[in-house]
Amino acid sequence: MSEPLSLTIVATVMGALIGSFLNVCIYRIPRGTSVVWPASSCESCHRQISWYENLPIVSWLALRGRCRTCHTPLSISHPIVEGITAVMFGAATWYYGPSPALAAQLIFGCALIVLFAIDLEHHLLPNVITIPGIAVGFAFSFVTGPGWVGSLVGALLGGGSLWLIAEAYYRVRHEEGLGMGDVKMLAMIGAFVGWKLTLVTLMMASIAGSIVGLTLVAFRKGDMKYALPFGTFLALGAALASTVGQRLLDWYIGLYPTV
Ligand SMILES: [Zn+2]
Repeated sequence: MSEPLSLTIVATVMGALIGSFLNVCIYRIPRGTSVVWPASSCESCHRQISWYENLPIVSWLALRGRCRTCHTPLSISHPIVEGITAVMFGAATWYYGPSPALAAQLIFGCALIVLFAIDLEHHLLPNVITIPGIAVGFAFSFVTGPGWVGSLVGALLGGGSLWLIAEAYYRVRHEEGLGMGDVKMLAMIGAFVGWKLTLVTLMMASIAGSIVGLTLVAFRKGDMKYALPFGTFLALGAALASTVGQRLLDWYIGLYPTV
């Protein structure tokens, strides 16, 4: 099951570099600019960033989180995204070894990281990620879990259930609670993890959303109007579902041995 240490280390370094690219996606996709051109520059003084200032995590630490020329603080989110991506690449490579399942998990994980960050900051889940994500998840299901039927049912159930909730909420409250972005995102998650883990995702996201929502209400003394980015919670739920979800399901089913 586990791969030699050397491969895991190479994957971790590659993950940090890809995390650096995910930062570019997170910054540029909501602004509608190209993710490949031009090279990164400081948001404040617009000086182009040289390669040695662009090393994942290391450069941020060396520059103490500030631009070398104008000393504007650089967001802490950059090294965090790079660190999480690096750990994800290392851990998934260790667990799966080189396989289609590893490729599927890494692509899925990268999509979740980008959607998490963009929804948190902009309350937006770009189609350019969710729609190709549905197709990629479905394509992978022919060579790895959950199988194409599970994937298809997952996408339909994921998208369909959220669409119904969104419709019902709109009819009752006459305002938009969930957007179509959330619907497409859960369809993408369903295509990757299958219908059972889609339900686990939805449950986890709702629990996490309720806890954070109620905490905010408590601190803001009853301001229920603050809109939480549900896609951010869906990303958290999907990350949990695709790592510990199956064990959680087995445990839950084990509680009812006669069923
Ligand atoms: Zn600068």
